[in-house]
Amino acid sequence: MKAKVVNDLMQDPLVYIEFDDISDRILFDCGYMFGLTLREIQKISSVFISHTHFDHFMGFDHLLRMCIEQDKTVEFYGPKDFINQIVGKLSGYSWNLCDDLNLNFKCFEISPPIVKSTLLKAKNAFKIENIEEKEFEPCIKKGNGYSVYTTVMDHKIPSLAFSIKEDDFLKVNSSLFENLNIKPGPWLGNLIKKVENNEKLSEDIDFGNGILYSEEFLAENLLYLEKGKKISYVVDTAFTDKTFSDGIELIKDSDELYCECAFLSKDLEKAQNTYHLTAQQAGKFANHGNVKKLFPIHLSKRYNGIYRDIFDEVIKEFPNVLNAYKKKK
Ligand SMILES: [Zn+2]
Ligand SMILES: [Zn+2]
Repeated sequence: MKAKVVNDLMQDPLVYIEFDDISDRILFDCGYMFGLTLREIQKISSVFISHTHFDHFMGFDHLLRMCIEQDKTVEFYGPKDFINQIVGKLSGYSWNLCDDLNLNFKCFEISPPIVKSTLLKAKNAFKIENIEEKEFEPCIKKGNGYSVYTTVMDHKIPSLAFSIKEDDFLKVNSSLFENLNIKPGPWLGNLIKKVENNEKLSEDIDFGNGILYSEEFLAENLLYLEKGKKISYVVDTAFTDKTFSDGIELIKDSDELYCECAFLSKDLEKAQNTYHLTAQQAGKFANHGNVKKLFPIHLSKRYNGIYRDIFDEVIKEFPNVLNAYKKKK
């Protein structure tokens, strides 16, 4: 799994997630999104919107335009009032000649203690047909090989922070094949399946020429569990006791944290008044959350030309700070 920061440090914060072996593509926030190619946009399977301020949501129309002729369902997750806001956007257009369209939006409104969901079909002019409700759980999406978690932060309106965690997976120590004098084959797939399904390993595998190993021996020696990667995304929130503890609970042990560093501490009052984080506060999240790498994003444009000051401030709290924009190039 890898993350791509689509815009530069002072622009709308979009993070695009892709996987090696999974076709799903995930987007955190969809503000100005012209940095994504048509192909990248058309592969998006779900979009997680922190909140619906203009700079986090205006790209919805662009995505709609790029995907309108696709035959698929895109999932959208957002905070309180989200379903009405998506329907509001869609109802700004006329949808009278849409019988041949097969694009659907499955919308989830995350408002603990409940989650509302509805399926909006282009064919039906994106009208609400019915709304389902279920109890909120921090894991809001269980994908094929990964899960997405959320918690509600405070931006004077609810703002969602997200973490995506790949499932742990079995890997094969193939350097041992030679030592054991065996070759990979269908037996290996069967063995992995058995271990994954917690099945009993009671058989022996005959490799010919008198070479025979028990499944248990092979599993113990050849297979090991690789921890799935965790990437977290935190933007547009005030720093309070509650956002700090809830945020830490969400992001803990992330491999990568993409976090707003809107203001310098010297502008703390501005940060507090606008319910944003300072660079120092972002560093505290990274430090207490025991993350491996912090990528500052969504810096206030007032620091244009002196953004290094933001990095210097973060580094005092948390040393492993990287420039996502440079990483992209
Ligand atoms: Zn905002
Ligand atoms: Zn913002």
